[in-house]
Amino acid sequence: MSIFTTRIFIVFIIFLFALQTEAQDMGRVRQHMQQLCSEAMHGRGYISEGDRKAADYIADAFQTAGLKAFQKESFLQYFEISVNTFPGLLLQIDGKTLEAGSDYIIQPISQGGRAQGNLLYITQEVLDNPKAQKRVMKSIKSDYVLVFDETLQSRIFENIAFRPILQKTKAIIVLKAKLTASMAQEAHIFPIFEVLKTKFPKKAKNINFEVKQEVLKNYRSQNVIGYVEGRKHPDKFFVFTAHYDHLGRLGEAYFPGANDNASGTVMLIELAHYFSQNPPDHSVVFMAFGAEEVALLGSRYYVENPYFPLEDITFLFNMDIFGTGKDGATVVNATIHPEIFEKLKAINKKGGYLPQILPREPTANSDHYFFSQKGVPAFFMYLMDSNYTHYHDVEDTYERVTLSHFDKTYHLLIGFAEAMME
Ligand SMILES: [Zn+2]
Repeated sequence: MSIFTTRIFIVFIIFLFALQTEAQDMGRVRQHMQQLCSEAMHGRGYISEGDRKAADYIADAFQTAGLKAFQKESFLQYFEISVNTFPGLLLQIDGKTLEAGSDYIIQPISQGGRAQGNLLYITQEVLDNPKAQKRVMKSIKSDYVLVFDETLQSRIFENIAFRPILQKTKAIIVLKAKLTASMAQEAHIFPIFEVLKTKFPKKAKNINFEVKQEVLKNYRSQNVIGYVEGRKHPDKFFVFTAHYDHLGRLGEAYFPGANDNASGTVMLIELAHYFSQNPPDHSVVFMAFGAEEVALLGSRYYVENPYFPLEDITFLFNMDIFGTGKDGATVVNATIHPEIFEKLKAINKKGGYLPQILPREPTANSDHYFFSQKGVPAFFMYLMDSNYTHYHDVEDTYERVTLSHFDKTYHLLIGFAEAMME
């Protein structure tokens, strides 16, 4: 080994050591992930007060990290929401019980109800052939539930000939290739089940269902907010945000929401630890928002009821979908802050953190949105992995999510925030 390569080797060892001293506590990361995704948190939604349990857990983590509260003694900022929930679901096809969450979900605007009856299929053939349509209309005897493929949905809803049978159906079953759940604030229509094509019994004839549904009105949810005081400019604020809420429960099933967004929430906690041990010149604020999945209501409430003037936010960085990263990241709002985006990319390149960071136009798809609307400079970053396809389904679990680039992203964000506070 030449002297030159030895020196390179020593430099490499020093480099490794430097990384190690700064590496974050992945054991703590996994523990927080596991807890936030556990059934005890009920999918961090509104049935069984999952949102409140998650918020209390995060407030404890903020306390442990050494954050200060804006409100006396409390990290919680309360607000009220309306949200439609489904505490009980039963769906039997030809006597076979399907499993909520994994076999089927329900459209969030559905009302409750129960019925037994026949299945009435609307197929491509029925749509194309008026004679077949008449046959279907004639075959109606008593209570029925319409069944059709997702690809036919808009044609059926737009076809005036189907209006009478749409008005009298007890429910609808839409056959889907993939289940993607969401939430709504109100209930407007009879139950609309979305059933996986592969789980729907072939040529089934009968249905029996019961949907217990409740719109929770004036339900009290909360944001969790803490900060580290800046040493030189405490009245300037760099803000990290991540929503902690998820889709809650669907009867017996619950949505763990590992990637969306236990991952961003845990990153928020880790950054809180870092900045409280390394206090910068500016104040750094950590906001874990509730009710993001319900029309961004938590961050919307904060923007209308801020703890300090929004103009004093030098930059806001929103983290949502942080559990992977094999294919890099995308940054919403990159196109309106091109210089700051270049800065982020340069820090990423220098540190060799993520394989790529792609720019995206402003989009109303997470908690940065209402801040952006008020003129607060903000990015929303999400990580990407083409192999991780679980989004708003019951399989977005702690066990499945990779956390492959969690540590690298952590270092990228520290580098970026520190550069923004120089
Ligand atoms: Zn989501």
